[in-house]
Amino acid sequence: MMFQTINISQLNKTVKVPIGIFVGGTFVPSSDGGTIDSFNPATGEKIASFYAGTEKDANAAVEIAKDVYTYTWSMRPVKERRDLLLKLAGLLERDKEILAALDSVDAGKPYNNNALADLDQIISLTNYYAGAVGKYTNGEVIPVSNDKFCYTLREPFGVVALIVPWNYPLAMACWKLQGALAAGNTVVIKPSENTSLSLLYFAQLIMEAGFPKGVVNIIPGYGNVVGETLSRHMDVNKISFTGSTTVGCKILQCAGMSNMKEVCLECGGKSPAVVFKDAQVDNAVAWTANGIFYNSGQNCTANSRIYVHENLYDEFLIKFKDYARKNYSFADFDVFNPECTLGPVISQIQYDRIMKYIENYDGKRDILFPIPSKSETKGFFIPPVVFTDVPETSALLQEEIFGPVVVITKFCHYSEVMKMANNSRYGLAAAVFTEGVRRGHRFARDIQAGTVWINSSNDEEVTVPFGGFKMSGVGRELGRYGVESYLQTKTVHMSMVPHH
Ligand code: NAD
Repeated sequence: MMFQTINISQLNKTVKVPIGIFVGGTFVPSSDGGTIDSFNPATGEKIASFYAGTEKDANAAVEIAKDVYTYTWSMRPVKERRDLLLKLAGLLERDKEILAALDSVDAGKPYNNNALADLDQIISLTNYYAGAVGKYTNGEVIPVSNDKFCYTLREPFGVVALIVPWNYPLAMACWKLQGALAAGNTVVIKPSENTSLSLLYFAQLIMEAGFPKGVVNIIPGYGNVVGETLSRHMDVNKISFTGSTTVGCKILQCAGMSNMKEVCLECGGKSPAVVFKDAQVDNAVAWTANGIFYNSGQNCTANSRIYVHENLYDEFLIKFKDYARKNYSFADFDVFNPECTLGPVISQIQYDRIMKYIENYDGKRDILFPIPSKSETKGFFIPPVVFTDVPETSALLQEEIFGPVVVITKFCHYSEVMKMANNSRYGLAAAVFTEGVRRGHRFARDIQAGTVWINSSNDEEVTVPFGGFKMSGVGRELGRYGVESYLQTKTVHMSMVPHH
């Protein structure tokens, strides 16, 4: 049986989900028959068991992807990719509710306030990449002398591997996949072992859209098995990874020890938001509260450190807590309740990790609503937590917690706050709130981060590049980089006179 039925009673839906590994256009069991159980983080209940790929399965997928690239995909007209991506966007629109529901049961995402928004973004980026086919692939002509000119071609890598995390299960895969396909590569994807279901369902849409078999292959499984095999593989020419900095470093090592494959890493963060004394306080409160509590704080760009000028500090703190209490709710621990804005964290392991930060704390702590007891819910629900008066060296300010936990700190001078904001091994994103044009742009210049928001926070756009400085990553995704980074440059020298 390559399918399991999942009953989503809140939506009156039953969904047939494939549970096999997806290689060469079909779902098959893994080579050793091993499986992984998927659990609903909002209830702790088992949802399904899917096959866990092995080293042999990952190798087989790369081999198929290589053959399909060489003999089929690279021969097809470029415009076909656009048509296929447009068809895919239409199918995603058609099955949007099913896919959002799968991410809700598998990752604990509030359906109305979070999972559906992920699907909107995925549809929009699929359309964007359809439009980008052939656009960023142009090389250049370089006149060298009367006797010679050169030109460059932008060619796909061939087989690329994509490894993705659980916090945006389908979206993180699509950020990479649609760009890789638009550029003309074939792909092997490994979803997170915590959240593989939506991507397996999505595989069916890839086939229905008409992509040739083996252009997209999906191998669910464990990181140290499937992920490492792909990272070391001699026929994978590029790898793009989103996940923790620790695993990102391992992938870099594997690439270096194997075939020097090109590596893109989108890793962790500890992003600051700075509220200057001329900021509009209500605006800053709304953006920063959502910037940390949306998706239960499981965002790589979450503004987990907020610095507020001393003149606004007391007002900001009161309003921030009020805003979070009013706008975030477990809604009876039901992620399908339209009122639910705060879902569970992904797993028992993450729950215990985050609770340790909350329990062993420095400074002052305010837990904004009660921590649910085990008799209330078997899900992994954690309320918003605000820390203040935390010393700069504390783990609360240095480590990525990846939960609904924020530290708010008072500052006085520009130089003081910039020193604190840049005091991190991460450099993914930063937000600044000020009505001063100069101050906003000065901050954007001085902060060590790959993305800066002026008077907003955590509002990504699929048309602009995204990626990190420092230990938050290497390379960029989205926008034109989403296609360009899946192409390599070939230079052709054209001599017009014989050698003399
Ligand atoms: P993770 O690093 O544990 O796992 C990510 C993926 O890597 C999973 O598919 C996992 O199976 C795989 N993996 C694990 N070990 C591996 C290995 N040795 N070799 C190859 N692959 C391996 O991360 P996670 O817990 O799934 O996700 C949370 C992390 O992701 C956070 O640190 C977060 O900041 C980061 N993240 C970053 C971005 C970004 O764009 N910068 C976006 C989302 C999440």
